[in-house]
Amino acid sequence: MYNVIVAGGGASGLTAAIFAAKNGYQVTILEHKDRVGKKILMTGNGRCNLTNMSDVHGKYYSSDKQSLQKIYDTLVSFGANDTRAFFERIGLYTKEKKDGGVYPVSEQASVVLDVLRDECERLGVRTITGCEVRTVKPLKQGGTVGVVYSGEDAAGRQAQFHYDRLILATGGKAAPASGSDGSGYRLAKMLGHSVIKPLPALVQLRCAGSFFKSVSGVRAQAGITLYIDNTKAAFDEGELQLTDYGISGIPVFQFSRMAARALDCGKLCEAGINFLPYVEDRASFFKKNASLKRWDYKTVESLLSGMVHKKLAAMICKKNKIGIGTLVSEAGEKAVRECIAQLFDFRVKIMETNPFENAQVCSGGVPLWEVDETFRSKLSKDVYLVGELLDCDGICGGYNLQWAWATGAIAGSGVSV
Ligand SMILES: Cc1cc2nc3c(=O)[nH]c(=O)nc-3n(C[C@H](O)[C@H](O)[C@H](O)COP(=O)(O)OP(=O)(O)OC[C@H]3O[C@@H](n4cnc5c(N)ncnc54)[C@H](O)[C@@H]3O)c2cc1C
Repeated sequence: MYNVIVAGGGASGLTAAIFAAKNGYQVTILEHKDRVGKKILMTGNGRCNLTNMSDVHGKYYSSDKQSLQKIYDTLVSFGANDTRAFFERIGLYTKEKKDGGVYPVSEQASVVLDVLRDECERLGVRTITGCEVRTVKPLKQGGTVGVVYSGEDAAGRQAQFHYDRLILATGGKAAPASGSDGSGYRLAKMLGHSVIKPLPALVQLRCAGSFFKSVSGVRAQAGITLYIDNTKAAFDEGELQLTDYGISGIPVFQFSRMAARALDCGKLCEAGINFLPYVEDRASFFKKNASLKRWDYKTVESLLSGMVHKKLAAMICKKNKIGIGTLVSEAGEKAVRECIAQLFDFRVKIMETNPFENAQVCSGGVPLWEVDETFRSKLSKDVYLVGELLDCDGICGGYNLQWAWATGAIAGSGVSV
């Protein structure tokens, strides 16, 4: 029997192992954590948003147009329906939510991992945990991986495994506590691959401004525009979370990868926050609310508190040097207009992203032009590369796991000796 070694027992590795084992290969998963699939348990706040039924166009990023096309082609070959059918075949029913997000019916991520592990066991996949792949050496036929075992009994023990085919499924660098510590990039480089600089994505943004401490903890529906070098680069709307260091929440996560890459090139990044997304007609809103006659009995702070969270109202007043208790009539129309204008477009300078430890995925990785459409390496023909290790990242909503399942399934079923 031919040996297929899968380095990394995450979403893509477990899927690849199942598909390769179904092809009749002897499959071994080498996982350096004490158990497989740790990150799966963290997904979707423990509920696992495992795919999304929406159109995938515009939901993924990569380094160039051809790579993006390759991502879309992959997701035609193995799309959200295939993912759902795959999970149903191995005993997991899923449900679709309003936004197209798909979850296990029980909304328990642990069940997703259970069915994958059960299927691996049924198919005779060998799983070795506490086993870190440190080296890869391609030979004329197949190759070897050098491993180091961890654990109290076998600390520092080393071994070699021969592979006829190797599937590198080690993930990227995001959330390294779950096991994806970036070691896969080193392994890919040993095979001659290049790596596009990995950067955190789906992550919080740290911003300039001491006022953040005063609004920390506030959650607000907001529209957020990302400006790169003063040009509008992206927009998203949803629940914004303000922290003591900057901005977080799904709309921020969605464009954090663009900010990360721009900051890495030394570009100026700003977020323009619209705290009044419910206002359709700005002109009449100004007319109604910057009216001294109508609101002369109110303080500026209480006027603004009727529009946004109290802490935001207080912060805007402070920023504009309007003291507590200052009446609208005292502040004057110009000052009130200026405060409202800032609620529509509150500009903050983005300084950096939070580190990989806080990121859900990473952008960058092994370029897609270095693998073929079955994710076989063009540089080392007995090796496949899958999942987040590759230069593909999706927005929030199940798209990243979909990429992991799809690449794992295609590579696993494409393995041929
Ligand atoms: C908090 C959080 C929530 C998320 N929620 C969602 C969600 O709801 N929906 C969604 O689509 N995506 C979500 N994601 C992203 C998604 O989990 C990942 O994109 C996906 O798991 C990537 O799969 P992977 O198999 O490529 O890598 P991973 O899942 O990271 O698996 C890599 C595996 O390889 C092992 N490994 C690494 N190096 C070695 C080595 N040298 N030797 C042996 N083993 C090694 C690791 O321990 C790990 O088990 C979330 C991520 C995080 C962090």
